[in-house]
Amino acid sequence: MPLTDKFGRAITDLRISITDRCNYKCVYCRTGNEGALYGDLPFADYLRMARVLVGMGVTKIRLTGGEPLLRKGVVEFVRELAKLNAPNGNGRGDPLDIALTTNGHLLADLAQPLKNAGLTRVTVSMDAVDPDRFARITRVPNGYDHVLAGIRAARRAGLWPLKVNCVLMRGFNEDQIIPFGMFAREEGVTVRFIEFMPLEEGRTWSPDTVVTLDEILARMGEYRPLVEIPRGRSETARRYRFDDGVGEIGIIAPVSHPFCGHCSRIRITSDGKIRTCLFSVWDHDLHAQMRRGASDDELAEFIREVVQKKEERHHIGEADFVPASRTMVHIGG
Ligand code: SAM
Repeated sequence: MPLTDKFGRAITDLRISITDRCNYKCVYCRTGNEGALYGDLPFADYLRMARVLVGMGVTKIRLTGGEPLLRKGVVEFVRELAKLNAPNGNGRGDPLDIALTTNGHLLADLAQPLKNAGLTRVTVSMDAVDPDRFARITRVPNGYDHVLAGIRAARRAGLWPLKVNCVLMRGFNEDQIIPFGMFAREEGVTVRFIEFMPLEEGRTWSPDTVVTLDEILARMGEYRPLVEIPRGRSETARRYRFDDGVGEIGIIAPVSHPFCGHCSRIRITSDGKIRTCLFSVWDHDLHAQMRRGASDDELAEFIREVVQKKEERHHIGEADFVPASRTMVHIGG
C-alpha cells in the first residue's frame, strides 16, 4: 500500500540529512557561533531507513545537511543507494532519483565520482554572483570561486538538471535578482529563488525580510520578459523561461504562495529522527526503533503511523505561528 497521509498526500520524496555540520555560516541560516548539535549516524543506518522507505513507495531521495559533502564516504553511500532501485532489491524496481543539495564548496572534485556512483542530479546553493557579496553572506572568504568551479564540474559530469538555489534576504542580496537571471542564461543552469523562511538560528526573520515571488517577477521583468512553464503537481518551484527561450528561472515561494497541499516529503535528520514538516515542533525517533532491534516490518509500521501525523500546512506569518523545534541546518533543507 503506498505511503499516504491522512490528507491523501502520497509520500514519495525523502530527504536525508547526513550531517548537521556545515563549513559555511550563511546569514539567513546560521548564527556563525554554533556548530553541529545533533551528530550523525553510520551510513549503514541511513541506508536501511532508505531501503524501508523505498519499499513503501519513495521514489526520490535527496541528500542534504548541514553540508553533505563534508561526510567522508558520501560517494560510496550514493553507490549503495543507487542499488535500491534494483528490481530484485527491497525496492519496487521503480527508477530511484538520487539528488544532492550542497553549498558546492567541495563539489569540483566530487561531481564526477558522485555521478559515476549513481547520483542523478545536484542543487547548488549560491546566494550572490559577486565574490565579495558571496563572502558577506556565507561568512567564508574565497568561497565563490570554489562554488563556481563546483557548478561547472557538475555540468561537465552530466549531473542534470543542474539547479542553483538562491535564498533572497532583504538587505543582503535582493539586488542580485537580475545578475542571477544573466547567470542562468550564461551558465545554462536553472536558478531558483527561495523566499526566506523563519528557520534560521539567529531568529532574524520578519515578514519585511522576505523578498516575495511578486517582487522577484517584477524585478526580473525589468531585465527581460518571462513566460511561465507548466509544472508538475508536486513541484515546489514555479518555473519561467525568458522570452527568447534562453535560460530558466524558478521561484519557490513557501511564504507568499504556500504549497503544503501538494507536499510529498518527509525528512530524516542526521541523528535519525523523522520530520513530517520543516515547521514541525516535534521529531519521531526512527533510529531509536532500530536501536531497540525493530524488524523492517516494524520500522515500516512506525513510519506509517508517523506519516499520519504529518501537518496539514505551515503557519508562517500567522498569529499562531510556533517556531520549528529545529533550525534548517539541523533539519536538512
Ligand atoms: N549545505 C547545503 C546547502 O548549502 O545547500 C545543504 C543544506 S542547506 C540547509 C539547504 C538549503 O536550505 C539551501 O539551499 C539553503 O539556502 C536553504 N536555506 C537555509 N536556511 C533557509 C531559510 N531560513 N529559508 C529558506 N531557505 C533556507
